[in-house]
Amino acid sequence: MTTHDHHHANGICDCIPKWYIDNLGQVGLPYSKVEDYARPPEDSYGSLFLPDRIKKGYHVEELKDGVYWVSGGWYDCMFVCTGNGVIVVDAPPSLGERLLDAIAEVTDEPVTHMVYSHWHADHVGAASMFGPNIKRVAHEKTAELLTRFPDKDRPVPTETFSKDAVLDVNGVKLELSYKGQNHAEGNIFIYAPKQKALAAIDILAPGWVAFKDCDSSENISGWIEAHDQILDYDFDTIVCGHVSRYGTREDVLTAREYTHDIIGFAKQALQEVELEYFMKDLGTGPYMGAFRAAEENYFSAITNLVTKNVLEKTTSNGKLWHQRLNGADVMTKNNAYTMVQKIRLEMSHNGYVTRQGHPEGFFL
Ligand SMILES: [Zn+2]
Repeated sequence: MTTHDHHHANGICDCIPKWYIDNLGQVGLPYSKVEDYARPPEDSYGSLFLPDRIKKGYHVEELKDGVYWVSGGWYDCMFVCTGNGVIVVDAPPSLGERLLDAIAEVTDEPVTHMVYSHWHADHVGAASMFGPNIKRVAHEKTAELLTRFPDKDRPVPTETFSKDAVLDVNGVKLELSYKGQNHAEGNIFIYAPKQKALAAIDILAPGWVAFKDCDSSENISGWIEAHDQILDYDFDTIVCGHVSRYGTREDVLTAREYTHDIIGFAKQALQEVELEYFMKDLGTGPYMGAFRAAEENYFSAITNLVTKNVLEKTTSNGKLWHQRLNGADVMTKNNAYTMVQKIRLEMSHNGYVTRQGHPEGFFL
């Protein structure tokens, strides 16, 4: 057989897979070439290229006084040694049992507690590996969701709270707080006051741009607000769930600035771009009912305008966004699109049509 003649050094075949659709034209999504994009800022790398992370699949590091950070490169989480049992905060399936190795590397204590930041499988999908006997702490919404949509790898939490709670294990304290829906329902803040370490998952990624569509967040108003709620904490380090390093206050301020640039340009573009321009393409022939095409183009125009404005802006430290956040050039379009839609849905922005019509003409 000669079907696998062409291999990269790492053993991955160069041939075009059967499932690969080269170009779907108007109905599909385009592919990108990595060389079309900017070189990533090196201070985003964190644990990514550390020899121990590459060798073992994880990097573990003490943030302060028994609070540890574990990074698999794409996902990270936190655990706390209490002297008589370990509290794990999240168990991403991409780390899986490597998280057990990371814990065993620094302590002989057994895992006695797990805190679920939120119900998403990509952050707590290895929760079952600690067995049936540990205590599982989460917000009541998380328990409700995992009861409604059961998963053998995400056991239903055994202890829940509604607004604020303190988890005290052997005198080591974690303050848990739910401030309302943001990225997900039930997504909580987890704070170690003595160590000034905070975990706030899927709000920002230190050194990296927020993943597509504002990290697939459910409530963008809550997601935006969460940046400020993080800054209300007195923290030195923050674990964010992604990507390859933990963060500081500076990283949160940077993410907040990027987010607010998108909001500002999105509001501006919603005022500036004219739906009529795309409606006239519908004509009077067989395409006159093709509203979806006009809507597509209208929102593409808005999204492109926001993306251009964000990426060309000289930011507060004199740099462009792609020089500050890894992937800003790749994913700003998706973040801009989501922000535009959520401004329409969640924020009052343009009044409503009266009997005299609407001053802006066509109006969505
Ligand atoms: Zn999530």
